[in-house]
Amino acid sequence: MNICIIGTGYVGLPSGACFAELGNNVICVDIDGKKINELNNGKITLYEEGLEEIFLRNLENKKLKFTTSIKEGLKNADLILIAVGTPPHPLTKEADLKYIYAAVRDIAKNLDHYAVIATKSTVPVGTGDEIEKILLQENPKAQFDVISLPEFLREGFAVYDFFNPDRIVVGLNSQKPKKVIEELYAPFKNKSQILFVNRRSSETIKYASNAFLAIKIHYINEMADFCEKTGADILEVAKGMGLDNRIGNRFLNPGPGYGGSCFPKDTQAMAFMGKKNDVNLSLIDSAIKGNEERKDKIAQKILSYIDDLKNDQVAILGLAFKDGTDDCRESPAVEIVSKLLKEGVKIHAYDPKAMELAKSILKDQIKYAKDAYEAIKDSSLLVILTEWKEFRELDLNQISSLMKHKKILDFRNLLDKEKALEAGFVYSGVGR
Ligand code: NAD
Repeated sequence: MNICIIGTGYVGLPSGACFAELGNNVICVDIDGKKINELNNGKITLYEEGLEEIFLRNLENKKLKFTTSIKEGLKNADLILIAVGTPPHPLTKEADLKYIYAAVRDIAKNLDHYAVIATKSTVPVGTGDEIEKILLQENPKAQFDVISLPEFLREGFAVYDFFNPDRIVVGLNSQKPKKVIEELYAPFKNKSQILFVNRRSSETIKYASNAFLAIKIHYINEMADFCEKTGADILEVAKGMGLDNRIGNRFLNPGPGYGGSCFPKDTQAMAFMGKKNDVNLSLIDSAIKGNEERKDKIAQKILSYIDDLKNDQVAILGLAFKDGTDDCRESPAVEIVSKLLKEGVKIHAYDPKAMELAKSILKDQIKYAKDAYEAIKDSSLLVILTEWKEFRELDLNQISSLMKHKKILDFRNLLDKEKALEAGFVYSGVGR
């Protein structure tokens, strides 16, 4: 199948490379000329485990191409996947659809044959109808079907999730595009469920899922606060809860709050849609508020562990919003660091993959280390903010010999609490 993907970010690039790996001819279009240049020259522009190999192989065998020309991208395309950003509107926090509509206008002007146009971007309910309207306004002769094909990949596991999806949701208002989708996902048959629903249901499934997961994180964070006050241990509580199949054991890890490019913006967009439609979505409102407050609370806790603000240095481990990715968008770690900087805290930070992107946000306000131990050296407090596996394996003896004061705040519960206490550290995790 000939596939054109519009937008080569965290969704477009892995999707493009993986669809090419399945034997499709994929061409990715982006308005960012620098990015396209780098990609064409074999330089991958984001980190996702296992992606570079697939990207390079398919670039080499010409199954995967990149261009800034929408005309070139649409040539012979059977399927057009829109994967541009839908960031929050700066004032209302609703999903800002300016990139979607610009891409749709570009498609309308250049489409000269029938194609299925699928929205992979996360878009508010009813956006498919708007896309149809724009296409017909701009090009009354255009032949197309607009479907919703929400993306459920987890950043950090994009390649794994592509090949092992829990479900594929397809929103369509007519049967014609079904054939293209069945052909596209033929290699996945028997492995995962394809759910065909109406387009508005599909658009809603994506937001309802992300909001639910955000609420689950918020809930376990509140339970962690409760455990801290009552002497219960959140790790034991979460384990006990998770053994109930109705609850499930995932998304029960307390931490510094949810972040990234999806949950914060999608909960806010869903809350906006609730207000617009006069529907009470109080759980979502509460999760948004609680998640914001959590970062303040954590910054306050860190401050309370610093004895001498002028001279003490704090080692921060983790800047990405989660492990497995370099993405720092709405990263709780970066937001907490920014709050600490306002209070005059001296910071030496390290992240295995996100240093470059963190630098573009935090600039030279903090020091950047080449590894965890360099960040820890001469620090008076060690703070863990992202759940990278390598932080779990840190050597407590080595940390002890490097630090000025032996204090650890472990906001991901990565280290062994008993061992840290035995080694003479002042140690505090989350919810225990
Ligand atoms: P991103 O910002 O990483 O990438 C978007 C890309 O689109 C950029 O490269 C940008 O230059 C390009 N672009 C913008 N306008 C364009 C146009 N008119 N023509 C061609 N290219 C254009 O965004 P992302 O993280 O990949 O997210 C894309 C969408 O997918 C969003 O709606 C997001 O909510 C959704 N989503 C993201 C994830 C994730 O893990 N990041 C997961 C599921 C869904």
